[in-house]
Amino acid sequence: MKNIAPKLPVEEYEKNFAELHPPLTSNSAITEANRCLYCYDSPCMKACPTHIDISTFIKKISTGNLLGSAKTIYESNWVPLTCAKACPVEVLCEGACVYNLTGEKPIEIGRLQRFAIENYFSKGMPVIFHKSPVNGKSVGVIGSGPAGLACGAELSLLGYKVTIYESNKIPGGLNTWGIAPYKMRREDSLKEVEMVKSFCVEIKTGTMIGRDIKVAELLNQHDAIFLGVGLGESPPLSIPGEKLPGVIGALEFIEKVKSENWEDVHVGKRVAVIGAGNTSIDAATEAKRLGAEQVFIIYRRSDVEMPAYKFEYDLAKKDGIVFHFLTSPKRIVGKYFVEGIECLKMKLGAADNYGRRRSSPIPGSEFIIPVDMVIKAIGQETKSSFLSSIPNLTLDNEGCVVVNPKNFQTTNPRIFAGGDCINGGKEVVNAAYDGKNAAHGIDKFLSLPYGGK
Ligand code: SF4
Repeated sequence: MKNIAPKLPVEEYEKNFAELHPPLTSNSAITEANRCLYCYDSPCMKACPTHIDISTFIKKISTGNLLGSAKTIYESNWVPLTCAKACPVEVLCEGACVYNLTGEKPIEIGRLQRFAIENYFSKGMPVIFHKSPVNGKSVGVIGSGPAGLACGAELSLLGYKVTIYESNKIPGGLNTWGIAPYKMRREDSLKEVEMVKSFCVEIKTGTMIGRDIKVAELLNQHDAIFLGVGLGESPPLSIPGEKLPGVIGALEFIEKVKSENWEDVHVGKRVAVIGAGNTSIDAATEAKRLGAEQVFIIYRRSDVEMPAYKFEYDLAKKDGIVFHFLTSPKRIVGKYFVEGIECLKMKLGAADNYGRRRSSPIPGSEFIIPVDMVIKAIGQETKSSFLSSIPNLTLDNEGCVVVNPKNFQTTNPRIFAGGDCINGGKEVVNAAYDGKNAAHGIDKFLSLPYGGK
């Protein structure tokens, strides 16, 4: 990179990456819990993809039964600390709270959930779950992200021997590596990993399936397999200059920031982020908080069509991110390193099959934004080459694994799947739901006389 943003004093990084939402104190948690109306039809619970019994866990907080509250949460969700900190609660549980109808502040469900779970961890994870007797069957789980952890925890409590295979040296998947540090630190994810390990789930890190162990060997070793492999790399922009030093994928960049050795992460003085989803916003705000002077988000449609949530958009604007809407990159400029990005102005036309208006370039509207770094945040591809190597697995047109939505079984009866590899990229809470319910699908299948090896 030609122009690297100057390093900041350590305390400046700490300030920039400090938590957006601090924890509730005991008093404020009880006061907030007492505001809950314990609605009989709990719209908040219906809006949560894992259907946590929200009014019950809040009631238990209000009566001081904090371990009971944690147990209620865990009965539906095995990664509740991550969900409490990283879920888009504004559009899920809190967005459905009845207080919104009266114009009052919804119950702070996310922060209350965090309060109950952090209390549980601070007490040293006391035993609050009953483990079924060992049933002699084993399941291999590929991937230790939220889907894999949820599936592993649930199966272990059902009596299965579970081994999770993780290619990274540090487990937790996107919970550990993909969430902006001002939302959640790596240690939070690792606490949830420890919790799952405490159920005697083995996690083999640094083990890549397909390279270190073949899928066929796994099928020999285990009665069933769960795929929670998430997604792969960002797709190419397919424009000239993409290979120049200074061009990086958003997840690769976020992973570096998550290492928390902030002074070692190089960021350009001027940064362009391509795409306007939630990951783009994370990458843009992280670049700014690392010391970039100017950060631009370049998006081919308008703010109406942008996929990022409104609260993420608001956060980016607060951080001073500049949005170039109706703008598309044409080429990355530079001979030896990134010096700028040439863009075209776009105009909107008719809606596509998904209801979003198509954009098309305005001829002759090219202009150059001088930048030192380009972050690609236009989504992620599925791990289609790995998935295609698995026998009898069916992938859809987008490269996602096809499953039976009732039990998460793939077209290979001994293989189940969940999370981003079946949905193309949703929230952590969706993956947690898939993993838990796939565990029950596996349990049912392996209880059949012909199930398993
Ligand atoms: Fe409580 Fe709001 Fe849920 Fe009603 S909708 S139970 S008030 S959190």
